[in-house]
Amino acid sequence: MAATALVITPREDPWEMALRQFNIAADSLPLKRGIREFLAYPKRELTVNFPVKMDDGSVRVFTGYRVHHSTVLGPTKGGIRYHPDVTLNEIRALAMWMSWKCAVVGLPYGGAKGGVIVNPKELSREELEHLTRRYATEISILMSPEGDIPAPDVGTNPQTMAWIMDTYSMHRGHSTPSVVTGKPLSIGGSQGRVEATGRGVSIAAREAGLAHGMSLAGSKVAVQGYGNVGSVAAYLLADLGCTIVAASDSSGGIYNAKGLDPRAVLKHKERHGSVSGFPGTDRVTNEELLELPCDVLVPSALEGQINGENAPRIKAKLIVEGANGPITPDADAVLDERKVMVAPDIVANAGGVIVSYFEWVQGLQQFFWTEEEVNQNMERIMVRSFGQVMRTAQEKKVNLRTAGLIRAIDRVAEALMTRGIYP
Ligand code: NAD
Repeated sequence: MAATALVITPREDPWEMALRQFNIAADSLPLKRGIREFLAYPKRELTVNFPVKMDDGSVRVFTGYRVHHSTVLGPTKGGIRYHPDVTLNEIRALAMWMSWKCAVVGLPYGGAKGGVIVNPKELSREELEHLTRRYATEISILMSPEGDIPAPDVGTNPQTMAWIMDTYSMHRGHSTPSVVTGKPLSIGGSQGRVEATGRGVSIAAREAGLAHGMSLAGSKVAVQGYGNVGSVAAYLLADLGCTIVAASDSSGGIYNAKGLDPRAVLKHKERHGSVSGFPGTDRVTNEELLELPCDVLVPSALEGQINGENAPRIKAKLIVEGANGPITPDADAVLDERKVMVAPDIVANAGGVIVSYFEWVQGLQQFFWTEEEVNQNMERIMVRSFGQVMRTAQEKKVNLRTAGLIRAIDRVAEALMTRGIYP
């Protein structure tokens, strides 16, 4: 295996990917031209350039975005990403995917996403707090419990949400917990939210495995991106009897064909900042990890990782998209051809937004559920949604991504037509 860990390959533009996926699904629907065109546009986009006081007394200017793709089904919902490669097109794509995700699992939300161009690992805790509070203030013209409710994404976490909630509340003059989800429990977070996305990914893997005639017990799993989503998915899949053979993060990956203890890997990452160096493993690059011999691949990092170039070399029989947009449309075509099943992001990683919805409902009602209630209700929605998408795929003879998108776009289009075009 190669010793170098970080190889950056050019990514397909995520917005182009989102539009190509949309067009494939929309071609199967009897949409009026103007309706189809409207659904392809983000409804509104905000770019903010803002100053942040750094620890050494200097001032640095950062750029951030908040995009609302659709407000047809309800307030917009979507995470906030802190990453050096954030672009407006990436945030547009992620916002559109949120619209389809909320629609396909039946939540009363439209899609949104936010992001700041920053490497959070290079900032101190104080600098991150200043950046977060200022960014929250800048986007507060769009954000509210009734209008737009952010959540964590890559590079952000419950503490980030706590700062946003506090900043918004300070400006309102009273506590407004329902303005964000993914908050710490001490300020109105929900039981089960931290694990929700990874738990949902493990449920999607189980359901997809059943549909594919493949038992998860004993299957070998490789996980790209050992963050909130990937690490939880890994240990819950291990609990279902899978053997986790590889894991990675931005500094590279680790591999042991005989298996890794995913909870010990997580502890190692918490202690050392990376999965790299976990005892008894070979080093692999993120690119190599995708092509390792395994049964199930769980890409849980960034978009565009599996593309037309490497898709022919993927060995897994099932890919469960923990990340949003990890497979390009070119790769989808190759994987279809090779009969590799893909549990698509808008269903597979919907556990997070489902439990975010529960958190929002609990916060508005000030009435809180047990972890068991949260997990059971999330699983019920995941299983129902996955089954519906499977049936649509069979009826329309399309892959699961297109089936999910057909259901989602149809739901949003129907609501749009029912509401009517104002004025
Ligand atoms: P995170 O910040 O907790 O973890 C991201 C992980 O990916 C980190 O371990 C990071 O080191 C790694 N990473 C970054 N760049 C990488 C690269 N080039 N190659 C390999 N690994 C890389 O983020 P997260 O919340 O776990 O989100 C991961 C993915 O899941 C994203 O696509 C996100 O949009 C999606 N997602 C997250 C949630 C959620 O609730 N957090 C919900 C749905 C979907």
